[in-house]
Amino acid sequence: MSSATNGTGSLAASTINRDQNDNPLLKTWTTPFGLPPFSEIEPRHFAPAFEAAMHAHAEDVRTIAENPEAPTFANTIAAMDRSFLPLERVADVFFNQVSTCATPDLQAIERDIAPALAAHSSTIFLNSKLYERIKALYDARAELDLTPEEARVLDRYNTWFIRAGAALGSKERERVAQIDRRLAELATQFNQNVLADEQSWHLPLMSDEDLAGLPPMARANARRAAKDLGLAGDNAHAITLGRSSVEGFLTFSDRRDLREAAFRAWIDRGAGGGATDNSETLAEIVRLRTEIARLKGYPSFADYVLADTMAKSPEAVRGLLDRVWPAAKKRAMEERDALAERARSEGGNFAIQPWDWRYYAERERKVRYDLDEGELRAYLKLDNVIAAAFDTAGRLFGLKFTELPDAPRFHPDVRVFEVTDKDGLHVAIFMADYFARSGKRSGAWMTDLRASHKLDGEPVRPIIVNVMNFSRGSDDEPTLISMDDARTLFHEFGHGLHGMLSDVTYPSVAGTKVARDFVELPSQLYEHWFGEPEVLGRFALHYQTGEPMPQSLIDKLKAAQQFNQGFATVEYTACALLDLEMHALEEQGLFQPAEFERDALDRIGMPGEIVMRHRLPHFTHITGGYAAGYYSYLWSEVMDADAFAAFKETGDIYNPDVAARLKSAIYAAGNSQDPHQAYIDFRGRPPEIDGLLEKRGLVNTESVG
Ligand SMILES: [Zn+2]
Repeated sequence: MSSATNGTGSLAASTINRDQNDNPLLKTWTTPFGLPPFSEIEPRHFAPAFEAAMHAHAEDVRTIAENPEAPTFANTIAAMDRSFLPLERVADVFFNQVSTCATPDLQAIERDIAPALAAHSSTIFLNSKLYERIKALYDARAELDLTPEEARVLDRYNTWFIRAGAALGSKERERVAQIDRRLAELATQFNQNVLADEQSWHLPLMSDEDLAGLPPMARANARRAAKDLGLAGDNAHAITLGRSSVEGFLTFSDRRDLREAAFRAWIDRGAGGGATDNSETLAEIVRLRTEIARLKGYPSFADYVLADTMAKSPEAVRGLLDRVWPAAKKRAMEERDALAERARSEGGNFAIQPWDWRYYAERERKVRYDLDEGELRAYLKLDNVIAAAFDTAGRLFGLKFTELPDAPRFHPDVRVFEVTDKDGLHVAIFMADYFARSGKRSGAWMTDLRASHKLDGEPVRPIIVNVMNFSRGSDDEPTLISMDDARTLFHEFGHGLHGMLSDVTYPSVAGTKVARDFVELPSQLYEHWFGEPEVLGRFALHYQTGEPMPQSLIDKLKAAQQFNQGFATVEYTACALLDLEMHALEEQGLFQPAEFERDALDRIGMPGEIVMRHRLPHFTHITGGYAAGYYSYLWSEVMDADAFAAFKETGDIYNPDVAARLKSAIYAAGNSQDPHQAYIDFRGRPPEIDGLLEKRGLVNTESVG
């Protein structure tokens, strides 16, 4: 056991109105490990807590900006870093709640609070007095005797303020603030529309014919979904638009008509016309982004975003995507021909359609590799995959995870763990929320409820959250997940470790607050361990017999690794290309998302049998932090493939020396170092792309066109 610090509760409580003293969001949290007291927090507490915290923050910032003393690192940069904490505490709890347990009440608060936060942020980052102090420090940086981390933080502040528009004239700054506020409203609307479309649709499966082809596990998931939806009848089953649910159905259902219905509903999220249609919202978002980029002196929003990433420019991103796209497309067309042949051999007298792809791919895989998803799932008990993720972190970084059954949590499904190091000292709290439910945003992500820092010397350790959308097993069965789900779990856990292991002084550069095209390195790298026979052999245990996955099955899995990678790469890269090109347009006056999507897909020669992994009307990555940034996964993949090779080359996937370097240069370093340099510190050289192409099986394909 260990001593945990209670976050920053007292800071917030000291500066707020006394009337708010009964508001649990503003009090010092005396819960174990300073966890938010979830059971005491009600929706009515959020708006006043935000108001009080923003007010207190604005006061703090004014004091810093108007300090009569000359600027120093301590009275300006460190003071700013500290000033964000109380508001962040409220915001972290709120956004976690509305993302995982949305209710109409919370969504209404979100619609008000998002633009209010944007306006608040503008008053800080467009404050010219404050910027003058930062600039004065930045210009004198060589004489300030800063630690390397402090120098990096100062550099970041200077960059953030310039990028926010602090150096612009007052008229331009006013317009930037106006646009930021409107963009926050639009992003909230966009995401709420997607959630509404996801929740308003389900496909009831009421007869044996409707269930044809679904293996027992998929049936159990569908029965559970029907129960959660309140559908009557013991034999009621349902498919929802959660990725696990609908992809499972598309993979197994023999009913081509129902597959088509489910697929169309899935890809039409946000594009169905009516109140939740996102076309107008997206058009306005893109127009405003272009305007704001131009105000800040960039030709396009993509130029603006990419200037502060590893890639640096749209040309560099195109360089990577263009290298992968033709090879992926060629491979996908070979895959399509094989699927068409498979369909024909089974009497299917039709061209492969998008709702056929997963179904025939699964059948083809079964024939070619004798590998069946149902058989695999029997070895992928959720609890064992979690144990494998924990075990890997133990072997690499000496971490231990102890479940805290009585700790506060934001939903009864959530599991809470204390993370300790090899000496038994407290490292972090890890909260995991694995199952899909109504009110939860789709997808999978990591977030934190407390950032780590050492502003006061004594370390404040983080509270890290992982959220997933797995289909839950029926009541009397353990939850079994797919290989994809298992990889997702490892992926988000990798982000989680990036937060948990963070060991820097300043919260603004802690954990995952790194360049967007660097942040997927710790997560994607971590996925590699789950595919290793060593890990599968110990943790992929049959849910009934407890037998480990047989070597023959592991071999088949390995042989099939590159199967369908053309499809996966096309599905992903099309999104990355459209995201880039949409934000690279320098004129957006007449931007129409539907028309743009159609034309752009035509231009890149998108195969008709494949639909983008995220069509523009529900592409929530681009309303969040991945605008002109969806390429980041591929960019990071170049690094993760190359980084994992560092372990493989030693013949030991847990090599302690490589693990120690990985921890100090990447997982613990946050943004205290330039990302390119951080990678070199770990690997001894820049990343090489060969590992990525090899992993996806794209090396032998000549690029054409
Ligand atoms: Zn990720």
